[in-house]
Amino acid sequence: MRARGDSTGKEIEETLISTVKNHSHIRVFEHTFALDLLVSNNTCNGIIAWRSCEGKILIWAKRTILASGGCGQVYRETTNPEIATGDGIAMAYRAGVKLQDLEFVQFHPTTLYVAGAERILISETVRGEGGILKNKYGEMFMPKYHPNAELAPRDIVSRSILREIHKTDYTHVYLDVRHISKEKLSNRFPKIKKSCASFGIDITKQLIPVHPSAHYMIGGIKVDKNGRTSVKNLYACGEVSCTGLHGANRLGSNSLLEGLVFGYRAGNMAGKESGKKKKDLSPRSFKETAKSHLYSELDLEDVKNSLKSLMWRSVGIERDGKCLKEAIENIKHWSKYIISNEFSSPLGWEVQNMLIVSILISSSASRRCESRGVHYRLDYLDTDDKHWKKHIIVHNGKYDFVR
Ligand SMILES: Cc1cc2nc3c(=O)[nH]c(=O)nc-3n(C[C@H](O)[C@H](O)[C@H](O)COP(=O)(O)OP(=O)(O)OC[C@H]3O[C@@H](n4cnc5c(N)ncnc54)[C@H](O)[C@@H]3O)c2cc1C
Repeated sequence: MRARGDSTGKEIEETLISTVKNHSHIRVFEHTFALDLLVSNNTCNGIIAWRSCEGKILIWAKRTILASGGCGQVYRETTNPEIATGDGIAMAYRAGVKLQDLEFVQFHPTTLYVAGAERILISETVRGEGGILKNKYGEMFMPKYHPNAELAPRDIVSRSILREIHKTDYTHVYLDVRHISKEKLSNRFPKIKKSCASFGIDITKQLIPVHPSAHYMIGGIKVDKNGRTSVKNLYACGEVSCTGLHGANRLGSNSLLEGLVFGYRAGNMAGKESGKKKKDLSPRSFKETAKSHLYSELDLEDVKNSLKSLMWRSVGIERDGKCLKEAIENIKHWSKYIISNEFSSPLGWEVQNMLIVSILISSSASRRCESRGVHYRLDYLDTDDKHWKKHIIVHNGKYDFVR
């Protein structure tokens, strides 16, 4: 599935937005931050949200669907947009919803590596059209790591690049597309060509500096085939959810398809189940009473950057028990004064959510003592079907292992 060369996601987003805008029964709250789910007796009744013009509001709903995307922002290097701070996963966790497979984070091998620039994704199709990876010395290296060379699975290409970076003691490798015709590069990769040009890189004549980045959260809120979660009246779809469809290693291009299919199913089921009976569901403002201790001196940007670096270093493409343990200790320490604190704007809430998601990823990764798909343990190199062909499910601080 592809649209306008390399702009499939944008095309889907624009179609969805215009459909929603033209639908008389859909009310849109723009610039509204979802804070928490309203859950009692294992039943969801809506959300608490925040709007800069009104403060906190309650939005009641007969059915709630979480579609808040991924959590790539917990990593220093990521292809994900700034909003991908894992808010939905953290909200669900606080509400006791079951989460699954959180140790499986997919890293994309090739993102543009220019200091200070956004990590623009250089899609697989560039390698599919003949793009060649080269190290600092201009040497091809993929054939020595895998018989399919540049076309090996994402996790293998990411690990090979990482090794080459370590070996050459350099910050990145290169993608060479200079031998591909100018016409093909313009027709097939207009966005990539334009993005590189904006940083002074003419891909028809120059090598593209690339580096792996966190790309896609395979795990998430455990859902059934209709998007239902473990909490009544709550659904999830898209990257925030875990349908199990991607196994331990997602194939490229399947995420948008999954989002479309499961988004449709969840919406359909939520509509059917909510019935026709009208209920007063208008949003209400409310006054907060208790305030917890405020640490006025907190530098949230510093906490956020430290967390992202730690996750990249210790819970990244390659992991081991010692690094994971240290990461968990550090995150727990930061969480002590950040999570208990009261914040009044999205930055604080996002950092709280990022800490929760990071601890869940690290703890799941430390429990899975094997390598499988995108989860690669240096201290457990083999896939161990006998003990580990099962999911790690977490809720309310409890980890269950389910076949
Ligand atoms: C650069 C890049 C290229 C990709 N290319 C492909 C591809 O070619 N094919 C493919 O299949 N997949 C691709 N993927 C993966 C795919 O794009 C994502 O998995 C998919 O877009 C996720 O969709 P979503 O609707 O679940 O989340 P999103 O599209 O991320 O939408 C989440 C929405 O929730 C909102 N939100 C988040 N938190 C809150 C909050 N607290 N309150 C209110 N709103 C909130 C966000 O603002 C956003 O509008 C790509 C991903 C990236 C980053």
